[in-house]
Amino acid sequence: MSGLLAGKTALVAGVANRWSIAYSIAAAFRREGATLLLTYQGERVRGQVEELGAELGAARVLNCDVTNDAELEALVAVLQAEFPKLDAVVHSIAFANKEDLSRPFSETSRDGYLLSQNVSAYSLVAMSRALAPLMSEGGAILTLTYLGATRVVENYNVMGVAKAALEACVRYLAAELGSQNIRVNAISAGPIKTASARGIKDFSKVLDAVAAHAPLKRNCDPAEVADTAVFLASSLGRGVTGNTIFVDAGFQIMGL
Ligand code: NAP
Repeated sequence: MSGLLAGKTALVAGVANRWSIAYSIAAAFRREGATLLLTYQGERVRGQVEELGAELGAARVLNCDVTNDAELEALVAVLQAEFPKLDAVVHSIAFANKEDLSRPFSETSRDGYLLSQNVSAYSLVAMSRALAPLMSEGGAILTLTYLGATRVVENYNVMGVAKAALEACVRYLAAELGSQNIRVNAISAGPIKTASARGIKDFSKVLDAVAAHAPLKRNCDPAEVADTAVFLASSLGRGVTGNTIFVDAGFQIMGL
């Protein structure tokens, strides 16, 4: 493949390290010729994300905590000044308190519930509102979800509920932004060893179960998720919006 995203500018939020799904997506977007913009969450990680940005050939690496409206506004101001149009936005962001990913779901605290919704679901709405006006020639907004949105996955708990909200947000945003030729989709990735995934109790058992039962008899690779993101962000995906596309070695079709 080459040049599927040539002439397009893509903003990717959620690169924390080389294992981040967003890192694989950013690398695939560069491979396909996109101008790449990365965002990071605060000073704590600025240095490491700037290093990754240099490695990936990003044109800009910018601060943006997606729970902070002032930071979103500041991001938009920089983009308006420096980039004439935006074509793709990748939201690869989620957070829940570690204790809410191991204790019984009914013991989730109100604060923990609201925190996971704010970071993991509402942020897609806030980002879309802020960035859609920059997508003057249409474009694609993508987010990352997981099977735990629609099926009960042990220990995924509050994050499953946040992902259910996220997938509903995708449909409402797609319906609203379609008239501007902005498509909104989610990729439901199979389990992948990342920093966020390590917060889920017994995550390695999930990896083992997928490898044993998925039709392809293996786990998915982040590069496969990234290639699906390329498809959705490129003109190849021009007829697809409001969808959740599974990139999970087929695991989600299996019953007993
Ligand atoms: P990851 O590398 O830890 O990425 C999560 C990202 O979210 C990090 O870059 C993190 O930044 C960022 N983030 C958290 N709070 C933020 C905030 N307030 N503002 C801006 N950024 C914030 O883990 P990942 O597995 O690649 O996760 C990416 C997405 O894929 C998530 O939505 C996750 O739920 C989804 N997903 C993952 C899997 C899997 O098995 N790994 C499967 C399906 C879906 P900091 O590190 O700086 O906090």
